[in-house]
Amino acid sequence: MKQLINKWLKNSHMLNLSYLKEAVFKQNCLLCEAKLHALAANTPGHPLSNSLHEFDSPCIHAACRPCLNDLPWHPKTSCPQCGLTSGGKLCGSCISSPPDFDATRAVFLYQFPIDAMMQRYKYGSNLTLGDAFGEFLSKKTTLENIDSIIPMPMHPQRLKERGFNQALEIAKVLTKNCKNKLDFKSAERQTLTPPQASLPLKKRVKNIKGAFKVNTNFAGKRIAIVDDVMTTGASLNELAKTFKEAGATHVECLVIARTLPHT
Ligand SMILES: [Zn+2]
Ligand SMILES: [Zn+2]
Repeated sequence: MKQLINKWLKNSHMLNLSYLKEAVFKQNCLLCEAKLHALAANTPGHPLSNSLHEFDSPCIHAACRPCLNDLPWHPKTSCPQCGLTSGGKLCGSCISSPPDFDATRAVFLYQFPIDAMMQRYKYGSNLTLGDAFGEFLSKKTTLENIDSIIPMPMHPQRLKERGFNQALEIAKVLTKNCKNKLDFKSAERQTLTPPQASLPLKKRVKNIKGAFKVNTNFAGKRIAIVDDVMTTGASLNELAKTFKEAGATHVECLVIARTLPHT
């Protein structure tokens, strides 16, 4: 499958909206082009009927079950607070120095082919992939008692350069599907910082300090922050801290992909 996905990633014409629509209507898998057998697999007793039951609508994702099975799903046995590997319990680091956010839910691990798809989405402006990520996040997330969904804010200058906020596009799909409130105005990024990806952990924390401003009172509110990739969590932590200072009582992180530290 890896070869097929590489081919798919190289063929940019396959990544535009018309290709997705074609794939959906033809019922072919977006990743490997295999014919989708959605109805057969959804029939009780079919060998695949119990697998990935939450993804029973291949029309949404236009990906076949073998491809879905091969994606690097974020394991359920992760630390509920930071999303790192921990056997499903709070990890040592969250016990000894808890982050400012209360929970982390990720859809994937930041590994192949999700990393390549994410790069294509962000730097190739492939908004179709943003919609697909939003659908995956909607299926993987249960929003319990969340008052509003906040996309990670982007500095106006960076927004001008990129043309869109990748977190906002994902949050729009999630909000629509979960019938929650999208709030992309209460938080602002007030400092233009070097990209976090270029910095080591300590510098990331320093780089992001004081970067956000929350202009609304969030007293007693429970919010979910949406972001594309969580690496050290420094940006999410700083934003969570800013929301807590504005009165929020619960802040959780909803991310498409979680990076695991190199072992
Ligand atoms: Zn496939
Ligand atoms: Zn943890």
